[in-house]
Amino acid sequence: MENFDDWRWQLRNRIRTPEGLRKYFKNLTEDEEKGLSLVVKQFPIGVTPYYLNLADPEDPSCPVRRQIIPTYSEIDPKVQTSCDPNALEEEGQIPHLTHRYPDRALVTLTTMCPVYCRHCMRKRKVGKPERAITEEEFRPIWDYIKRNTQIREVLISGGDPLVLSTEKLAYYIREIKKIDHIEVIRIGTRTPVILPQRFYDEDLLRFLEEVSPVWVVTHFNHPKEITEEVKTAVRNIRKTGNPILNQTVLLKGINDSPLTMEELFRKLIAIGVKPYYLFHCDPIYGVVHFRTPIEVGLKIMSHLRGRLSGLAQPVYALDLPGGKGKVVLSPQYLLKREGKKHYFRDYTGEVVEYEF
Ligand code: SF4
Repeated sequence: MENFDDWRWQLRNRIRTPEGLRKYFKNLTEDEEKGLSLVVKQFPIGVTPYYLNLADPEDPSCPVRRQIIPTYSEIDPKVQTSCDPNALEEEGQIPHLTHRYPDRALVTLTTMCPVYCRHCMRKRKVGKPERAITEEEFRPIWDYIKRNTQIREVLISGGDPLVLSTEKLAYYIREIKKIDHIEVIRIGTRTPVILPQRFYDEDLLRFLEEVSPVWVVTHFNHPKEITEEVKTAVRNIRKTGNPILNQTVLLKGINDSPLTMEELFRKLIAIGVKPYYLFHCDPIYGVVHFRTPIEVGLKIMSHLRGRLSGLAQPVYALDLPGGKGKVVLSPQYLLKREGKKHYFRDYTGEVVEYEF
């Protein structure tokens, strides 16, 4: 198809309406049909033509399809029970900047994503409306980072920052690089998975080479996502001298099987992407239906231990509530369990109770 390899064409031609999805998926399930009518009032939908083509129009259990089509479970009060739909993530003092750990800061440059993933942990913050920050809004962020000399690492995220023009992205990253105490820049982006054509853009590749090393942290969830286009994108990124790491989220009905995860991590390492984290799905409104018991993740990790080289093994982790940081999930870190209550030790040494 004309322009299919052009990332701007992919963004311009995203499918953003229930009618658009209905044209491709003829045999929607009742849950999907209800999702398309009702969920869209609360959460955004959207998919690039490229990623849509990976979905099976006939099979509702397709792992790509499940990441694209909303289902009623996302808002069903009987399912989304363990979380408060009105709770908001803690806002920092400066808009679009989060400074939770002393040495790291997160800057969110836009609310726009190429695909609105059904399992997104930030689904109440993305896409509605799609908006990039302005240079005026960036100034106080830059001043804050400059003043706080304990910050060594800046994570550039979104939405997805790679939807910005190369010129805009380059402006923000070059500005951050001017700050002497910033040693590491990390870009959190799902574009290698859902819009690999972004990395066919020569201007972007030249810029990535100029600022190398930046750590590209991406988000593959299933081996079906590793296509020829992805291999080209990853090869292009690696030629710019920048490392690529992957974070997978453990998702019920998508990748909650040891064999699927084994195949995913083998394929990632073969194309030059290091599996970094396997995250346990957080109890966030709109996402709870994708959660598995912790035992599912532990079983996957034991399966991988005997079969994959250390290079291909991610760390299985859980984000503790209340900004208490991540804990590694393994029987050693789980201090005790009483029914649904789990007790972990956080990074400060404090024991944290977490019910699920
Ligand atoms: S690309 Fe990332 S931030 Fe955007 S919807 Fe998907 S998971 Fe969320």
